[in-house]
Amino acid sequence: MNEQHPFRSLDVVAVSPHPDDAEYGAGSLLAAYAACGHRVTIALMTGGDETRLTEAKSAAAVLGAELVADPTGRDGGLAVTRARVRWLEEHVAAADIVFAPHPDDTHQDHRATAAIVGAALRRSAVGLSWYRTPSSGHTFTPTAFYPVTEHSASVRQRAIEMHRTQSDRAYLRPEHLALKDAWFGWLSGHPAAEPFQVVRHQFAALPVPEDDHRALGARTSAAALGNT
Ligand SMILES: [Zn+2]
Repeated sequence: MNEQHPFRSLDVVAVSPHPDDAEYGAGSLLAAYAACGHRVTIALMTGGDETRLTEAKSAAAVLGAELVADPTGRDGGLAVTRARVRWLEEHVAAADIVFAPHPDDTHQDHRATAAIVGAALRRSAVGLSWYRTPSSGHTFTPTAFYPVTEHSASVRQRAIEMHRTQSDRAYLRPEHLALKDAWFGWLSGHPAAEPFQVVRHQFAALPVPEDDHRALGARTSAAALGNT
């Protein structure tokens, strides 16, 4: 850290319809945010199942994230209610960046989650991106790619393994995740990547102090002239 570029910790919130969705779709990026010192929260919309809630807490801890869960949400029948929107509003109130499933996801709980996120952010202009789930529909169109490193992929894998009741799910197997990473890596020019569809991007992380714009301009001009 130095005086010209003070570190500002971001508040990152990934909204997960079910335990494992955020890990599957954004686990590598969330692990990287946490490792860089940013605050990462997974907001679980269906926290009503005790066993899966315990697994989700363990998975979040592996990623370096905090888990918050709505205990009223039930797997398979998540409804868009005023109470759920208010619950989420509290957890995204200080967010810099929010991640959620796409509104056209083919799973009803994922669609409901996207609707709840939209309502909770209706007066907000924070950064917002959709992450891909195993049930993302054909309208999910990735526009941003996080280059998955071996380390972040292994952290994601350890987090996913915390969901012991889901161990028979083919899409959570390491070979599936490796294929997914490779495919989106191929689309984006990386060996491996995690895809996102950016709805709104804010340059919140640019570490330029307010009063330093003139100095930065001077340095940029000098660099353009080769005087650095
Ligand atoms: Zn799900």
